[in-house]
Amino acid sequence: MKKLLAAFMIALLAGCTTPGPRIDKSLSATGQASRVRFLVLHYTVSDKPASIKILTQQQVSAHYLVTDDPQPTVYGLVDETRAAYHAGISSWKGYTQLNNSSIGIEIVNAGWKDTPQGRVFAPFPQSQVDVLVPLIKDIVARHKIAPENVVGHSDIAPLRKQDPGPLFPWYQLAQAGLVVWPDANRVAAVRQVFDIQVPDAAWFQKKLAAHGFALAQSGVLDQQTRTVIGAFQMKYRPANIAGEPDAETAAMLEVLTTPANAPLPPVPPAPVPPIVPTTPVPVPVQAAPPAPTVPPVQPVQPVQPVQPVQPVQPVQPVQPVQPVQPVVPTQQ
Ligand SMILES: [Zn+2]
Repeated sequence: MKKLLAAFMIALLAGCTTPGPRIDKSLSATGQASRVRFLVLHYTVSDKPASIKILTQQQVSAHYLVTDDPQPTVYGLVDETRAAYHAGISSWKGYTQLNNSSIGIEIVNAGWKDTPQGRVFAPFPQSQVDVLVPLIKDIVARHKIAPENVVGHSDIAPLRKQDPGPLFPWYQLAQAGLVVWPDANRVAAVRQVFDIQVPDAAWFQKKLAAHGFALAQSGVLDQQTRTVIGAFQMKYRPANIAGEPDAETAAMLEVLTTPANAPLPPVPPAPVPPIVPTTPVPVPVQAAPPAPTVPPVQPVQPVQPVQPVQPVQPVQPVQPVQPVQPVVPTQQ
């Protein structure tokens, strides 16, 4: 009887753990793809022990962590089918919240520090790159991630992030076919056009957005535009990342955002020079101040009232000349 009761209890308990609906997985759809569309690269700004602690014990995380050991280890911290928290508020090519659609790789690297000589970034040892390249190759092949979607944190959040920084070997990744890179011959040809006249801020904003960045199309060279230009330069022209719009940066942007057989762009129009007051011109008190872009209009001189013509005095009739009286000879 006890045995029977025990069996009953076991059956009852088994019934409590719901097995869930039974799924028949013998069929498979043709139309399907990975949910992963982007690969995002980061540096940790911490050494290996701190990086491991942060990425395993705090909310921030990444799918992979590449250490800086002489023989670097690749830790898989989050399964690729799940989201890791590495991107934050982010945008690329119109897609936002990239944690949901990306794989994140953190690389142990000290980041940067400011010195009297300027900001100095920590290099990536070649041993790290040699581990990173096959890892990226494997991930992009399995998820069919396009080279234009292999990006840095500074691409998808340029106003907040600088990683992986200008010393990250993007060109080595390009040579491995993992990221897009502008053709050097086309850049040289287009640069000759932009050497004549560098495009204006509106042009840069339009091209940076076409490349993938999220930025306001303000039409003026504001701080956000300089920062995004700097993010672009960190990836493609790391020798000068000051964020200044120059002919080489413009040529790279043009080549990256136009088809390979596109004709050379026209020479951009020269910017209208702002009218600044030069030598002070004496301005009549009554005259309105000159508008900033319109040359000052000379005040019209008031027309002098025409003096009424004095009526012509009627000509006095000429008195008939009195006939000269014949001179009477006087008596001597
Ligand atoms: Zn990052």
